[in-house]
Amino acid sequence: MNAPNQSGWKPGTPVRGDFGLDSGPQTVTGNRALILEEPLIFELGGTDTTGVDLPEPAADAANRLGGFERAETIGLAGLSEPETVRHYTRLSRQNYGIDLGFFPLGSCTMKHNPRLNEKVARMPGFADVHPLQPVETVRGALEVINELAFWLIDLTGMHSVAMSPKAGAHGELCGILSIRAALEARGDAREVVLVPESAHGTNPATAAFAGYRVEDIPTNEDGRVDLEALKERLGPDVAAVMITNPNTCGLFERDLKAISDAVHEAGGFVYCDGANFNAIVGRVRPGDLGVDAMHINLHKTFSTPHGGGGPGSGPVVLSEALSPFAPLPYTARTADGVVHLVEEEQADEFAREHFGGPLHHFGRMTAFHGQMGMFTRALTYMLSHGADGLKQVAEDAVLNANYLLRSLEDVLDAPFAKAGPCMHEALFSDDGFAGDLSTMDLAKALIDEGFHPMTMYFPLVVHGAMLVEPTETESKASLDQFITALRSVAARAKAGDESMKAAPYYAPRRRLDETAAARKPKLVWTEE
Ligand SMILES: *Cc1c(COP(=O)(O)O)cnc(C)c1O
Repeated sequence: MNAPNQSGWKPGTPVRGDFGLDSGPQTVTGNRALILEEPLIFELGGTDTTGVDLPEPAADAANRLGGFERAETIGLAGLSEPETVRHYTRLSRQNYGIDLGFFPLGSCTMKHNPRLNEKVARMPGFADVHPLQPVETVRGALEVINELAFWLIDLTGMHSVAMSPKAGAHGELCGILSIRAALEARGDAREVVLVPESAHGTNPATAAFAGYRVEDIPTNEDGRVDLEALKERLGPDVAAVMITNPNTCGLFERDLKAISDAVHEAGGFVYCDGANFNAIVGRVRPGDLGVDAMHINLHKTFSTPHGGGGPGSGPVVLSEALSPFAPLPYTARTADGVVHLVEEEQADEFAREHFGGPLHHFGRMTAFHGQMGMFTRALTYMLSHGADGLKQVAEDAVLNANYLLRSLEDVLDAPFAKAGPCMHEALFSDDGFAGDLSTMDLAKALIDEGFHPMTMYFPLVVHGAMLVEPTETESKASLDQFITALRSVAARAKAGDESMKAAPYYAPRRRLDETAAARKPKLVWTEE
């Protein structure tokens, strides 16, 4: 394959490749796909060579393996040290990540993880802590958990927090189980949880897993929950509504207080999916909007890129009404303003003193306290920004998303842009693409521009959805480069550039069968 001639190229000038096509692939950024081609290690080195010279054993050496020595070779590829180092270094570069470039995935918050976080998380007192260590040896770690809990309670204006859930979805389960415990305690079995059409798939899954029947709440033409339709559906069978705020269309649910009032009046609880809290942290306290339970994705809102395969952490903040039904352990603020970590031994006494009755906890979410590495990263992030800095984080994230929205709305359909500014992510549709060109084709062409695609086909309420979340950590220069690339591929999609159907051209792998890759992965190399 001939790579296009790069000499004399200037940013913003289309470059055509020589693929024998009339309208060949082009890029405006000068980037060439994401990665280098790299064979498997077995294809690089033969099993008949070796990278090390070991002395032959002495002829009279005693065989100390007692008959267990290997009868056949194990067939490892023999490579020299530099070959081996290069192989793994190149492989590591195939891992596209936030340290390599802009990651526009919406509904995921892929943001830069300051190195300071990593330094603190790796301090032996945090990194090597073991859950079964005697309590008196982990006082510092417990203090970190408590301080983080204090920040979360403070920033959300809520009453208590369960730190143990391991990720957002686990936090949802924790919140819904608390709601169920509260309803059961008052002998009020309710069956239904209402979830808006635009919700993340984990919301209905959580409600169903906790034994509830899920019903949709319609979205209005502004991309927000239809308040009147919701009010109409409320009744004695509705246990809770689950609402994401800001929602997955990247919009603030302005009616959340009115929704909470209506739900409470009907005897239900309000669960807020707080995965998008990064857009409003320091500016809005969910507790003031009548929320009863909300999970916070520490790995989205308080740094640590989401989706890197590492652990997440999904603490759940609870209202005063739900606090007596928290899991164990949990952390609560008392009337004197002090935050207490409550363990099983003190649970009843603590609840009698502060809630006027025993704790009706539903058990534990996990055996231990939670994700220490995530706690240290999140608290480091909070302390290094300070309360004012966190507010600025939210404002900059929203500013960046609106800059993208306004820079692209003339070339991409932005279904809710007329209704006003967006929050932390900008939503576009495939309306106006020529012929059968699709969001998928645009995303693949974007790879040729050196950019990871945005979230596609989510939320489902928008046709061919493209959800772009820049986060606060991107500079104007990096946003401008992304905008240049996206404007170019959007214009090609509208002009009917059929060459996009075979993109990416510059990536070592072209269009894959993504279903088979996920369902039937080949994980073992066999010689054929
Ligand atoms: C990420 C996300 C979740 C799930 O969080 P996990 O930590 O991945 O389990 C739930 N809701 C929304 C809106 C999200 O973006």
